[in-house]
Parts: sequence; C-alpha cells; structure tokens
Amino acid sequence: MKRFISSILVLLSLITYGQNTQVEELGKIYMSGDYEQTIIKANDLLKNDSNNIDYKLLLGRALTDKGEYKEAIQHLEFTVNNDKDNSWRKAWALGYIGTCYYMLQDYNNSKKSTKDCFDLNATKNATQYAYKRILLFGFDDFYKDWKIVESYNFRFHFQNMSDAEIKNYISSREESFQNINKFFNSELPKKIDFFVWESKEDANKLLRANLGFADSEFCIVHSHYQQTKGHEMTHVISNYSTKVINKTGLINEGTSVCFDQTNQDKEKIVKDWLKANEKKISIEEIWTNWKNYPEELTYPLSGLFVKELIDNFGRDKFVAFFGNQTYDNAKLVFGDKFDKMIKDFENKINT
Ligand SMILES: [Zn+2]
Repeated sequence: MKRFISSILVLLSLITYGQNTQVEELGKIYMSGDYEQTIIKANDLLKNDSNNIDYKLLLGRALTDKGEYKEAIQHLEFTVNNDKDNSWRKAWALGYIGTCYYMLQDYNNSKKSTKDCFDLNATKNATQYAYKRILLFGFDDFYKDWKIVESYNFRFHFQNMSDAEIKNYISSREESFQNINKFFNSELPKKIDFFVWESKEDANKLLRANLGFADSEFCIVHSHYQQTKGHEMTHVISNYSTKVINKTGLINEGTSVCFDQTNQDKEKIVKDWLKANEKKISIEEIWTNWKNYPEELTYPLSGLFVKELIDNFGRDKFVAFFGNQTYDNAKLVFGDKFDKMIKDFENKINT
C-alpha cells in the first residue's frame, strides 16, 4: 500500500510538473513577445485541458497585445470567473479586460475592470498596471468634474474651459486632424482620448510627467491647453500609418514637429541656436545620440529634417521608412541619393 501511494504521489507530481512546465513554457513564449505563437500554442493546449485558467489567461493576454480585443475578453473572463483563489491570475485578467474595453470604447466596463484589478491588490505588478491606467485613461477621482465632449475623431476631456472656448478648441483640432491625416491616411482603432489640462502643475503631480505627451497605442493625448494643435495628435496618427517596430527621436519627434500646424520659422531657430552656441550639426551623430543634445536644438532641427526627407523622397517612401526609423533603414529605403541629401541639408543648416 505504501508503495502504491508513493507511486501515485510520484505520478501526481509528474502530472503537475508536466503541466507546470507547459504553463511555464507558454509563459516564456508570451514574454518573448511572440503573440502569434502564444495563441497557437495556447489553443493547442486547451484542446486537452479546456478549463485551464493559466492557458486562458495567456491566450487572452496575447490576443489583447495583438489587438484582438473582443476575442480576448471571453478568455480573460473565464480566468476571472474560475480563479477561486482571487490570485494574481484574476488580477492580470481583470487588468487586461480593462484595457480591451478601453480600446473598444466601452469606458464604463473598462473603468470597472481596471478598478477591480487595482482593488484586488493581488500582486504588485498587476496593481501598478491598473493604477497607471486609472491615471492615464482618466478613471481617477481627480477627473470627476472634467467635461467630456465627443467629436468625430476625438473624445475630449477638459479640466476647465468655457463652452465657447471648448467649441473653438474642438473645431480647430478636428481641422488639424484632417490636415495631418490627409498625409498619413491612417485608420485609428478608436477616437483619440484628448485630455486638455489647464494646469501643468496638476498634471505633473498626478501623472508624474510633463505635458504634453501622447500614448499612441491607446490613442491618448495629455496636453496643456496652450500647446500646439498638431504635435501630440501626430504621434497617434503617424503610429497607425504603418506597423512601427523601431522608433528614434530624430524621426518620431521630427514628424510631430513637422506636422505641428504652427508657422514657426524653424530654420531661423536652429541657425540662431547654432550661432549662439558656436556649434555645427551632424545628422548621423544626432540621429544616434539624440538624448545628448538639448531639445531647443533637436526638436526644430528634427522637424526641418523630416520635411526635407518628405520633400525629397515623397510620402509613400517616407511612410514605408517610418516603421523602422533607424539611419541604416533610411539608407536602405531611400537609396543612393540619401547621403547627398544629408550633406546638402547639413551645409544649408551649418552656414
Ligand atoms: Zn513629441
């Protein structure tokens, strides 16, 4: 009998071990960022173990990360409803459901799930995941008196603005959106949630970030009411013009500066700065070491440079390149004339 029990124990531990290894392996594939493979493997494992909440969770998370929000929710809900221990599994499933509903513009369910994840307080990382979204998505009590107004391409959140100001603000931003997207021709997965802050200090205190900024994945902009019409929304619009796998400061910021819808004389700003600081620019150097240079120089310069790229190589080549914004890829996409274009540009700016 003793021997029998111990062999059953061995057998049981082997089964558990076998299952744990499979969960672990699936987890590894997911963490590597290969969502396609995670989905295939999870579906395969679920054929023989259809109630496994770990497989369901990883399947739901991979589907979410791939943008398949509707399908993701049902798998994540299975984990929520069947995790009797209220463990980290349930927390992550709730957090991801919140994200899915947000992208589907079901804001009530998004808020509920995200807050449930936060309140469950099951594991530090999931709680932080939820808290970040509560702030970013506008679910915190801080926003409770903000005015929400929807327009064709936006869902605006106003901290403090009169109805007349709101009307002007919306029509000018809709116009900017049209102007910018005439070039990019992007299809966004949802309206842009556009937060218009009256106080930079409030934003800094709550979000621990300086205004403005965009989260292009979620189509979110947080902006001070006096900031340029086009800069932050260009971050969102351009992100959906092609599949973006590699961003660089020179190109990503340059694109937003180029489409910021202002009439600033950027060439004069750059030349004045170079003169005052007795410096000359090298595009390749700034491209690779973007963060080593001050924004007063790099932002207007990058806007000029992106405009030069578009003027020289046209919209389609620029968008094709935009997905992988490195110097090497630029050489590849733009070809022979690229190096000469940079030389001419540097000469123009440095003299
Ligand atoms: Zn920017």
